Amino acid sequence: MSKEALLIVDMSNDFVDLEGPLNVGEAGLAIVPYIRDLADKFLKDDKYVVISMDDHAPDDKHFDSWPVHNVTRSKGQELYGELKEWYDENKDNDHIIYSMKENYNAFFKTGLEDELRKRDVDTVHIVGVATDICVFLTASGADAYGFKTVIHKRGVATFTDQQESGLEHMQRCFHSEIIE
Ligand SMILES: [Zn+2]
Repeated sequence: MSKEALLIVDMSNDFVDLEGPLNVGEAGLAIVPYIRDLADKFLKDDKYVVISMDDHAPDDKHFDSWPVHNVTRSKGQELYGELKEWYDENKDNDHIIYSMKENYNAFFKTGLEDELRKRDVDTVHIVGVATDICVFLTASGADAYGFKTVIHKRGVATFTDQQESGLEHMQRCFHSEIIE
């Protein structure tokens, strides 16, 4: 039987805490309770939850483009607040996958496609940050591997002015279903 997975993208202190170097502002804080509730619902329904997290060496070339963030095992790389609490409460649940990524795209060189396939997942719901960057490129990766994509509007945020156009592009390019 086909299954669904929730992908939580980059909800770390560096991206969500208002002190974080790449924080998405109040919009990032606002999506946290929605994501937590959705993650609970997925586990309750016997579906999967993937925590996809940026993971950079201190000298990563990626930092030519961005402020230093999500350095391996730093405090900044940990899940933010309520989501860390949620993870700590549920980490023994075998329906949770913690997946590190070096690229924007959660499917690039992470083995995530195989992890989802062996669990018969065919649809991925994506939440997290930033809508037009890592969420968008993760939707692209999922689509390229043939997964159906569902984006939760109340579960994504960005620090740019591309929230709406990011959603429109996912709908247009990947036929993503957008949940209001
Ligand atoms: Zn990064």
